[in-house]
Amino acid sequence: MTGKITFTMIKPAAYQNLHAGKILDMILANGFRIVAIKAVNLSSNLAAKFYEVHKERPFYNDLVKSMSSGTILAAILEKENAVESYRTLIGSTNPADAAEGTIRKYFGESIEKNAVHGSDSDENALKEAAFFFSEFERV
Ligand code: ATP
Ligand code: MG
Repeated sequence: MTGKITFTMIKPAAYQNLHAGKILDMILANGFRIVAIKAVNLSSNLAAKFYEVHKERPFYNDLVKSMSSGTILAAILEKENAVESYRTLIGSTNPADAAEGTIRKYFGESIEKNAVHGSDSDENALKEAAFFFSEFERV
């Protein structure tokens, strides 16, 4: 069965550079419904916890620092086959490799400042959504 929700964050550089509105436009134009959304400043502890799966990777410390460097916009998105459909819309991790028309192609500056996060599985989408939002914050 394909999952109906995914979780995204508009990363600090993209938020700071005022790309959030255009990114949300692309998300809505591609048929996603916004189930929950909020702007937050992640502490380095929370960013470290969110990206714990990557803690052995060489870029982990930089990633945590970058994700806690400024405001992010976190959201739960709903669509049929949400995880895969959103990964297609955002494009490859490295914006240099991202396909034309993808969010990372338009708004990513580098592999670290790649504009957005998108869940990589249904299981992680549920975990990540629950990390940020309580039931009553969702519509
Ligand atoms: P995300 O989880 O943010 O949606 P992703 O699933 O495409 O991205 P992951 O492998 O999960 O990529 O990496 C998480 C994040 O870590 C990436 O979005 C990127 O910002 C950063 N990252 C990944 N690989 C590198 C790298 N080689 N150097 C620096 N940063 C990296
Ligand atoms: Mg990932």
